[in-house]
Amino acid sequence: MIADELGIEVEAQESELEEDLDQMIQTEDRLKDILQDDDPKKMKPRPPIVTVMGHVDHGKTSILDAIRQTNVWAGEVGGITQHIGAYQVTIKKRKITFLDTPGHEAFTAMRARGAKGADIVILVVAADSGVQPQTIEAINHAKAAGAPIIVAVNKMDKEGADPERVKRELSDRGIIPEDWGGENIFVNVSAKQKTGLEDLLEMVILVADVLELKANPERPALGTIIESKKTPHKGVLSTVLVQAGTLQIGDPILVGSLAGKVKSLTSDAGKKLKTVKPGMPAELTGLSDVPQVGDIVQVVEDDKTAQQLADLLWRKERASKLRPTSKISLESFYQQSQGLEVKTLKLILKADVQGSIEAIKDSLVKLETEEVKVNFLHEGTGDITPSDVTLALASQAVIIGFDVKTSATAEKIIQNDFVDIRHYNIIYKLIDDVRKAMGGLLSPEDIEIVKGRLEVKGIFSSNKDRWTIGGFLEEGSFRPGLKIKIKRADEIIGEAEIISLRRENTEVKKVESGVECGMMLKKVPTKIQIQEGDFIEHSVIEKRKREL
Ligand code: GDP
Repeated sequence: MIADELGIEVEAQESELEEDLDQMIQTEDRLKDILQDDDPKKMKPRPPIVTVMGHVDHGKTSILDAIRQTNVWAGEVGGITQHIGAYQVTIKKRKITFLDTPGHEAFTAMRARGAKGADIVILVVAADSGVQPQTIEAINHAKAAGAPIIVAVNKMDKEGADPERVKRELSDRGIIPEDWGGENIFVNVSAKQKTGLEDLLEMVILVADVLELKANPERPALGTIIESKKTPHKGVLSTVLVQAGTLQIGDPILVGSLAGKVKSLTSDAGKKLKTVKPGMPAELTGLSDVPQVGDIVQVVEDDKTAQQLADLLWRKERASKLRPTSKISLESFYQQSQGLEVKTLKLILKADVQGSIEAIKDSLVKLETEEVKVNFLHEGTGDITPSDVTLALASQAVIIGFDVKTSATAEKIIQNDFVDIRHYNIIYKLIDDVRKAMGGLLSPEDIEIVKGRLEVKGIFSSNKDRWTIGGFLEEGSFRPGLKIKIKRADEIIGEAEIISLRRENTEVKKVESGVECGMMLKKVPTKIQIQEGDFIEHSVIEKRKREL
């Protein structure tokens, strides 16, 4: 108010405390650095993290169950086994951690947040059916994550099992068996008869040894949430996969933007644990709300710090929801790859028929130059699926659909995360856009999208810095805290912030379109006067392609 009096505009600056706090939050990038470059003297071997992928009905669940049962039967652990989203088995005194979430959900969620997801991928292919669309999808997910692939040729007990055919079909996709001079290990198994599973586990250890997986168990623990649910009796149960450090009961933690304290730790075998070491999953209690799969878990100094960090993150999340995102798009690709000697545009291509895919790919490859390349992470026929979207998210890729739709479930994911999905039905237009993107010529345009609009019907009070007004909400919604613009005949005449909202004399946190409501507004220093018939709008800026 004083500054206003003096005609000075005040800009809020992040406090030093806030900056210090910000430094403490483990982002994906920092997590990656810690996992790779911690103090070499403190790095100790850790179990490999393995995920099982493949086409539906090829036997992923059966293999995961069979491996677990075989190991439990070996008298390895006591207690009641429980499904927590991951489990550990022991072979030749070595431990292996399996992610057993359905549809490789944990894997992609971790990848979408920049972590690797798993060290090794077991690709399950049924010997009687061979390579299928989701087999290819799985290969592309694994490749994008840079995880080595071990092929489990399953259902060997079945009549018509043809492992040689699987080898041939996978070789065509660049997964070449070792005995054919390639790099991929193939193991024949039967989940039904429980054969070949030990071999499979030994191969996992072999591949893990080459990867030299290590982590520092001495630092404050860091991990990722791989499953989470709310239960009526035990409260929130979350499975954490510890990636570095040792998690202990009593540790104050920050999980996503939730603060908590580790109350109990339980292994997949139902054993109560006091500590959890890197590479190991455990179910934890001590969070008041359900975190998201893929959220980072970090141990912090004390409860107060956990709470401060949670508050800061909450504020930031809220702010970022109102800002356009910086994920990759056709328009932003060139700009975001500035400084790279070779810029690679990652694409996922979905089309109506195989013929279109080939035609589009051929034309796009021809656009490549020394400096700008295209990389097809995945291509296939049919609609754009959630799997395409998660792959795009995790790999910073753009999805191109030719004469296909985006499935409703895929649409849902995009509501929370930004993925550039482009639909075309004219090949020429598609190629032209990609060509422009590769040359940085497709400049984005800021488009204002109105999220709420109210017509002012009455002014109840007006003083130095506040107005109380009433009006009719024509579209969208309003909440306290939003910055709004005041428009008169399509011209912006001023700005303000919503302090509070009222509906029929009660204060509310939100109003939605089609109702009358009252609003208290704080003026942003201007000399204007609001009047009946003005419009109050709040909007977000989105980057959109300029019409060509
Ligand atoms: P998922 O969709 O990949 O998880 O596949 P499931 O594990 O659910 O298996 C699909 C079907 O294949 C089930 O009916 C299983 O009983 C069957 N199945 C899985 N593994 C084998 C196997 O090794 N041999 C035979 N004969 N059937 C199997």
